[in-house]
Amino acid sequence: MPALVAFAGLVGLAIGSFLNVVIHRVPRDESVVHPPSACPRCGLGITARDNVPLVSWIFLRGRCRGCDLPISPRYPLVELLTALLFAGVTLVVGLSWALPAYLYLAAVAVALAAIDIDVQRLPDKIVLPSYGVALVLLAVASLGDGNWGALVRAVVGGLALFLLYAVMVVVYPRGMGLGDVKLAGVLGLYLGWWGWSALAVGAFGAFVLGGAGALLVVATRRSGRGTRIPFGPYMLAAALASLVVAAPIAGWYLDLMGIAPTG
Ligand SMILES: [Zn+2]
Repeated sequence: MPALVAFAGLVGLAIGSFLNVVIHRVPRDESVVHPPSACPRCGLGITARDNVPLVSWIFLRGRCRGCDLPISPRYPLVELLTALLFAGVTLVVGLSWALPAYLYLAAVAVALAAIDIDVQRLPDKIVLPSYGVALVLLAVASLGDGNWGALVRAVVGGLALFLLYAVMVVVYPRGMGLGDVKLAGVLGLYLGWWGWSALAVGAFGAFVLGGAGALLVVATRRSGRGTRIPFGPYMLAAALASLVVAAPIAGWYLDLMGIAPTG
């Protein structure tokens, strides 16, 4: 298991390097495969030795080899975050049929959170295909485990979360956008497959984290009135966190209500 988790972390570093390209180019409607990366100032192509995730940035001391243009620390941070999430998801999900599905969720979470913070948008180009990818990967997981109940729960979860957010956008359009509604459906699939408590904790957790984030922004006065605070990162963080914390929270809640946990 430790070897598998370490390997997943290394794969995460490489995927994170690709996600940097996705985060930069998808909002600009550019291709993610062409042209190859180059320095925006001197045009020097980024060679293999300068494209090793994390390591190259450190060896280059965060500057272009050709013209010393500073390279944002965001790039190695995205790679590191993806690596940690891949290792964490592998630790939680284990070597199972569901692992590819949840690694895809981790990758999409990093890309969408960064893009939402950058441009306050959750691009359809990433969100809409994710319905298909998630459904196929979760169906494979159900097939492998012989657990079709989980797939039914996934579809119910996807519909429920989509509708919940759709109602909220109608009632309070300034609070969130259609991008959040579309993302909610994808997250509902994943949370539903994982379990009912994950669905409840993941849905509720987004508002707990979002509320805490909004208070922090107000307290530090980092945002003027009317500034839109992206909600996507909170939804994604709550969904990933609930894979770990949903079971303990559900157990604690049922205990509090005096209901014996049934598992
Ligand atoms: Zn340069």
